[in-house]
Amino acid sequence: MRVTICGARGSTPAPGPDTVRYGGHTSCVAVAHDGELPRLVLDSGTGIRRVTGVLGERAFAGSILLGHLHWDHTQGLPFFSAADRPEARTDVYMPAQGDAESVLSRFMSPPHFPITPGELRGTWRFLGLDPGIDLDIEGFTVRALEIPHKGGRTFGFRVSDATATIAYLSDHCPTALGPGPDGLGEYHDAAMALARGCDLLIHDAQYLDAELAARASFGHAATGYAVRLGQRAGARRVLLFHHDPPRTDADIDALVASYAGGPVPVDGAAEGMVIDLPAVTAP
Ligand SMILES: [Zn+2]
Ligand SMILES: [Zn+2]
Repeated sequence: MRVTICGARGSTPAPGPDTVRYGGHTSCVAVAHDGELPRLVLDSGTGIRRVTGVLGERAFAGSILLGHLHWDHTQGLPFFSAADRPEARTDVYMPAQGDAESVLSRFMSPPHFPITPGELRGTWRFLGLDPGIDLDIEGFTVRALEIPHKGGRTFGFRVSDATATIAYLSDHCPTALGPGPDGLGEYHDAAMALARGCDLLIHDAQYLDAELAARASFGHAATGYAVRLGQRAGARRVLLFHHDPPRTDADIDALVASYAGGPVPVDGAAEGMVIDLPAVTAP
């Protein structure tokens, strides 16, 4: 399995000289079977423009899973040019909540945007997804589970193929369920089930642990929670994701360095990062 980070920022794009390495684009991760082009895309933040680059000249043929519908996970959709062409085929899945295309049209239609989802070129289907069932999507086994966030139904995903498993919880507010054993939030069943034994846990890391008390009401997680969830669930590697817009490259470097030598390897998700799984471990 090949995972390409196309956007790692949370909330709103954050371009500029201080964010060039981890990147300013909002949430988007492309997933491919070994030796293939990506057919599965997690979220369509502004980073989805990079997926067109990964595909080269080719039209997209695959599926987009939207964990929820906030701007930073949807606004790239009409700019995914590899999908907006006559020969492309795209299935868009989102947490079930009425007619999927109509729900998306609420952010993507005049006067908010010039066109509706139905006016994109190519073949599109907009589908509601129910949690708790294993689905075969583009040759991946996908399980969605509902997780606490804020302002709209939100899913985390567990995505597997014959070679590897990743867990993707881009926006997650575990303190909504209580303080948990360390004050960073509950290690609840859905989070544990998504992350259990995965090769790569991609997790909301919007706040520093010290910021949590003042900011948890915005609906996100602290970095310490992401790391400890990975540890508790037996994840092989944790990727801090959904970086707070003001967090600079130097800030993220320092944060990652603070977890060096810990029980689970921790890295910061960076735009353009390509991760082949399962990771080859040195003998
Ligand atoms: Zn978000
Ligand atoms: Zn959100």
